[in-house]
Amino acid sequence: MADSAEVSMNPMTYLGLGSNLGDRAGNLTIATERLSQEITIKEISSIYETEPVGYKEQPLFLNAVVSAETELDPFELLHFIKRIESDMGRKPGFRNAPRLIDIDILFYEDMIIRTGELTVPHPGIADRAFVLVPLAEIAGEFVHPVSQRKVGDLLAEVDGIAGVRGVGRLSLRETIN
Ligand code: ADP
Ligand code: MG
Repeated sequence: MADSAEVSMNPMTYLGLGSNLGDRAGNLTIATERLSQEITIKEISSIYETEPVGYKEQPLFLNAVVSAETELDPFELLHFIKRIESDMGRKPGFRNAPRLIDIDILFYEDMIIRTGELTVPHPGIADRAFVLVPLAEIAGEFVHPVSQRKVGDLLAEVDGIAGVRGVGRLSLRETIN
């Protein structure tokens, strides 16, 4: 068992990142750098420019998805990402409102959590092309623990893929641990 210390047993989580105010790419970069201070980022999707969903009269988003290993439990992780959002100057707004940075917990292992504070898997995944396109890039084989469907299969059925356009990788990959 000489190698056992190198085998990580920490839980894997997938996080969705979005920004549609200010320096959008810079906001994604700062958020990823902040995340990497507490969790071990494994993969980062490409960046996509996406049409707003719900409230349409707002700027286009940039979205990406990261995978990470973490020692934080799901609620600790939620509090950590909320702290990053507020430190980055996000003001409370209405649902689907413009935002400097939005970080959502998409999956946490295959856990199913339904509390007032936290719902995991994130309830919007199957309806949101702006989540599924980047998520499928790094987790196409991941099985959604509620629907038991693979991410890649959910992507094949989602509406709105035309509103999700790849815009490169920017500098985010530098934060991979
Ligand atoms: P949205 O991203 O849906 O536009 P917010 O980012 O403002 O909305 O989040 C609203 C609340 O959603 C947060 O305060 C948080 O407690 C809750 N929430 C529930 N489940 C999740 C999740 N999986 N990831 C992030 N936030 C979540
Ligand atoms: Mg959110």
